[in-house]
Amino acid sequence: MSALIHNGVAQKSSFATDADARRYQFRSLVIVCLIFCGFGAVAVKMVSGWVLVAIVVLLLPRWMIYTHELFHLRGGKQIDFVTRMMPLPFTPGALGYAEFRQIHFHHHQHPATPEDPDAFHLLGGPWYALWGALTLPEQSIIRWASQNGWRASLNFDFLCRASIFGACLGIGGVTFLWLWVPLRLVYALGDFSFFYLLHVRHGVPGTYSLQIFPVLRVLAELIYGRTLVRATMFHDRHHLCPQIRARSLPLLSE
Ligand SMILES: [Zn+2]
Ligand SMILES: [Zn+2]
Repeated sequence: MSALIHNGVAQKSSFATDADARRYQFRSLVIVCLIFCGFGAVAVKMVSGWVLVAIVVLLLPRWMIYTHELFHLRGGKQIDFVTRMMPLPFTPGALGYAEFRQIHFHHHQHPATPEDPDAFHLLGGPWYALWGALTLPEQSIIRWASQNGWRASLNFDFLCRASIFGACLGIGGVTFLWLWVPLRLVYALGDFSFFYLLHVRHGVPGTYSLQIFPVLRVLAELIYGRTLVRATMFHDRHHLCPQIRARSLPLLSE
């Protein structure tokens, strides 16, 4: 596949560009803004909590994939403060962009092996992987800090994230659950789909593609966009060529 990518004109245009990075970053910021605005509207009882649930269900998967695409295009010092901080309040003690990016690069180096830092949410069977996905925000920082030291992990960005979580909880009280529960569930489901379903097939660890019925694919692309659907369907190609933009992955020949 690499030869095809480097030789063809069409393949050259498949490489992600600065414009793609700017688009992912802008959309990621808009989604974060919409989720916090939705939470604010629920907290002051302007709208029903179900509106916030709908916002999270529709937009959080997009935020996840834009963040993933950015990992391959921008370092932690090349993006804005909000994107770098990853301020969505999943947990009081969460990692940020730079740390997750490093973890993701190690995942690319050792996919679906015991050395893969994501092994705790993709190996060991579906229930173990699901548990790993549900507890990923907490397990990530514990595992990161045990390797890199707590002092280095509890940095300024960490304190900002912890403060945002505390502020949301303090302002929203019980209402905060309208944000936190869908955030955690959608995040876990997205993570399970992007790691376990794409890296274990019939119990065998590896890196796989995911076939979706054409009708479902069109529907999914309408709701969640081509970037998310194609990054998921062609994850094996992404591992071979991470520099290719997700929505161009189907254009590449085997
Ligand atoms: Zn992967
Ligand atoms: Zn990747």
